Amino acid sequence: MASRSIGVIGAGIIGTVTACFLQRDGHDVTLYEREAPGSAASGGNSGVLSPAAVVPVSMPHLLSSVPGWFMDPEAPLTMDWRQAPRLLPWLIAFVRAGREDRVRAISGALAALNGPTLSLLRPLLREAGLESLVVNKGMLYVGAGPEDRLATELRQRSGHIVEFLGPQGLRDLEPALSTEFTHGLFLPETAHTTDPHRLVTSLATHFERNGGKIVIEEVSRLAVDGQAWIEAGEKLHRHDMAVVAAGVWSRRLLGDLGYDVPLVSQRGYHVTFQEPGITLNTVIMPVDAAASIVPMEMGIRIGGTVEFARPGAPANRSRSDARCSHARHALPSLDTARHTVWMGERPCTPDSLPILGRAPRHPQILFAFGHGHQGMIGAAGTAAIIADLVAERTPAIDPQPFASDRFRDPLFRRKSNAADRFSP
Ligand SMILES: Cc1cc2nc3c(=O)[nH]c(=O)nc-3n(C[C@H](O)[C@H](O)[C@H](O)COP(=O)(O)OP(=O)(O)OC[C@H]3O[C@@H](n4cnc5c(N)ncnc54)[C@H](O)[C@@H]3O)c2cc1C
Repeated sequence: MASRSIGVIGAGIIGTVTACFLQRDGHDVTLYEREAPGSAASGGNSGVLSPAAVVPVSMPHLLSSVPGWFMDPEAPLTMDWRQAPRLLPWLIAFVRAGREDRVRAISGALAALNGPTLSLLRPLLREAGLESLVVNKGMLYVGAGPEDRLATELRQRSGHIVEFLGPQGLRDLEPALSTEFTHGLFLPETAHTTDPHRLVTSLATHFERNGGKIVIEEVSRLAVDGQAWIEAGEKLHRHDMAVVAAGVWSRRLLGDLGYDVPLVSQRGYHVTFQEPGITLNTVIMPVDAAASIVPMEMGIRIGGTVEFARPGAPANRSRSDARCSHARHALPSLDTARHTVWMGERPCTPDSLPILGRAPRHPQILFAFGHGHQGMIGAAGTAAIIADLVAERTPAIDPQPFASDRFRDPLFRRKSNAADRFSP
């Protein structure tokens, strides 16, 4: 296989793991990042790495819950209504993606991408000496009602173990859990990283140690002229190929090439309790709060919430306060006095599938963004697809369900008039 020069834009989990996989194949890889590796969503998330992540966000039962959520200040979803006109096409496509037949097809694609996450990630962690950053303690859904029957069916259909627990089983597994919960579902295969930020930054260091270059500059323009051109910090860099892995900001970069993609920001929050006073044996997912409570190196972290806000709006304190009260509800003896709060932007498509593969009109450009709520989980599968495409191998994971042209809907007709070509 010929070695190529490849520029990867964005050093979140997707760009960093992809850069490592490409480097392993012998390519000359440069990673472009405007802040620091892991500075955006990838650094502050809940770190859950579940091979059983086969359930999309838009589900048939979701619509009936949404009106009640808008009345409840602690609900898992909130929206600045002034953003509704901008978001409308995306929201319509989101609702359509929740039809049961679509959910089943989407779930199959998620199973193919996310199922091998740990088997693909572990060799890289071993090479980098980072195995201890990922632990396997399983994940416990509590408060699951009958509306989760489809989710359970999808997990079981894709071959994952789901254990049903009653009150005693819950207490044995997680003594700190509120006795209000009387039943739960345990997914024993689920792992998590005990520090998502350290995972990304350590992988970036590993990449550099192996000869990779990291350019800390904002990429201001992307162009194609037989090769891929990346303009960063007043300089033009030429590569055989460029991978766009800039999270929610990928949409703006692709405008330079005349593409528009249905990618919106869903802001999420975490609160990390630094002296929790309790220990957890597993990851807890209180279903009603749509939250994840995770034992980490720096304390116990609760993450979650979906907020549609004005781009650039400041963090909303009431969203992180709601996380605190959800955590206290699930874990009554949790000490919440000392805590840190954080907000990050998930890059979300309407159908919960990322956008992966070659740009339709520019074979030198590869898309790797839009992982929404599951970017930590989807990173290794994404990197494997991109590495296979660059090497012109038949991809072990079929990239077809993730192709950008699945959004041919007139809702997403391109508005940009930007030039397709570029003269350096
Ligand atoms: C509260 C919360 C909890 C979550 N929990 C989980 C979880 O448990 N498991 C899971 O799998 N997922 C989880 N997620 C989702 C996950 O965090 C995201 O899917 C993932 O981090 C997206 O990674 P990314 O690399 O695509 O984007 P990002 O992390 O946003 O990285 C993109 C990078 O590109 C850089 N960039 C952008 N534009 C430019 C430019 N022009 N030039 C140079 N650099 C640029 C940015 O600075 C950034 O560093 C959670 C998210 C949130 C908010």
